[in-house]
Amino acid sequence: MSYTKADIRRICKEENIRYIRMMFTDMMGSLKNVEIPVTRLEDCLDNQVMFDGSSIEGFVRIYEADMYLHPDLDTFLVLSWENTAYGKVARFICDVYQPSENGEHVPFEGDPRGILKRNIEKMRKLGYKAFNCGVEPEFFLFKLNGEGNPTLEFNDTGSYFDLAPVDSAEDCRRDIVLELQKIGFTIEAAHHEVATGQHEINFKFDSAVEVCDQVQTFKLVVKNIARRHGLHATFMPKPVEGIAGSGMHVNCSLLTMDDKNAFYDPNTKNQLSEVAEKWISGIIHHAKGFCLITNPIVNSYKRIVPGYEAPCYISWSNANRSTMIRIPAARGNKTRTEVRSVDGSANPYLAIAAILAAGLDGVEGNVPLVSPVDENLFDLDDEGRKALGVESLPSDLNEAIKEFKKDTLIQEAMGSHTVKKLLEAKTIEWNAYHKFVTNWEIKRYINKY
Ligand code: GLN
Ligand code: MG
Ligand code: MG
Ligand code: MG
Repeated sequence: MSYTKADIRRICKEENIRYIRMMFTDMMGSLKNVEIPVTRLEDCLDNQVMFDGSSIEGFVRIYEADMYLHPDLDTFLVLSWENTAYGKVARFICDVYQPSENGEHVPFEGDPRGILKRNIEKMRKLGYKAFNCGVEPEFFLFKLNGEGNPTLEFNDTGSYFDLAPVDSAEDCRRDIVLELQKIGFTIEAAHHEVATGQHEINFKFDSAVEVCDQVQTFKLVVKNIARRHGLHATFMPKPVEGIAGSGMHVNCSLLTMDDKNAFYDPNTKNQLSEVAEKWISGIIHHAKGFCLITNPIVNSYKRIVPGYEAPCYISWSNANRSTMIRIPAARGNKTRTEVRSVDGSANPYLAIAAILAAGLDGVEGNVPLVSPVDENLFDLDDEGRKALGVESLPSDLNEAIKEFKKDTLIQEAMGSHTVKKLLEAKTIEWNAYHKFVTNWEIKRYINKY
């Protein structure tokens, strides 16, 4: 939707909006907000709503903490699920700004949405109009306990594409879909995923910033509606050992200035353009380097292991579903590359910025071309994969940190502020995990030694 300030004033009156949530995303991908009463609408529309950035993860130090929220008017939304006795609540997704020395507002370099916008700017300079993305978020639904805290208990016994009564989460999933449609999402499909308690809902692709905004809104709706059904929704990559984990595959394509899909060429053998092959090569080249962004938590690495339809080897294929980059069969303006390593714990703005930067590095011709691999990589041993030139994704967060430190292109795409803050936070996270004694170790060793 496209709104003017006058539209917003009118809708706030007509809809009896009482509160406005000014939303933004921190470095870890969590949606944050400052709520203002609607009496401050003019301040908000004049970019005058301030907040203290010092306790936001990945933001700033105490002495430079004053930040401004610039609402993106087109993200205005009445939160349909939050009607209270006091009236309605609406929201904006905001860009984060800082005051400069002369008092002007300048974009804050650590704002994930701003980081994505910077990378899109670079793409435009290379002659492309848009970066279109379609995401496939998977999530689990677990029962809540008496105190309202999540358990690991399922509320269904369903599996891939099952129907009720096996899938008793169907009502909940359908309510989620209805709520999403109510607020303007175009839902393409919803289904039970492979694991018990696991679901997927797909919505229509959009340009990169819009799709990331939608991912953030999507997660909020899924979690809120699940709660109404006494359930907890989680996008954690691998909540339960021994069954499939949850990914968030990202389908992407570049649009040329004359609105053509840059990845399509009817005259090649696989109908992929040279740009597409260069793009894929860029992603493969930087796959290890951006893993810290697309798979950012300790738990991410428990998903990308053999046996659960999640990729662990770095390759692409026209046919094989097991590869990290798959090329769905559709061609013409639907030609796209699907990056299957990404999971739902990733900050969508940063993950999509990293994929874009990696792909463009390939398009610019800075990396050697990589051929597709159609063998099933899970059937081969290390030697076999090596013979095909196929490497593995990092096997834990520590390895991902090391790979990120080596990849200057991905670091540049994130900007020095985020690189520093991210490395600090992720090193602390790894160290905390690394020295923790797990139940697995106790069970395995306590009697034996
Ligand atoms: N759950 C799988 C993953 O982790 C994907 C399964 C599928 O969508 N085919 O990526
Ligand atoms: Mg899917
Ligand atoms: Mg799926
Ligand atoms: Mg997929």
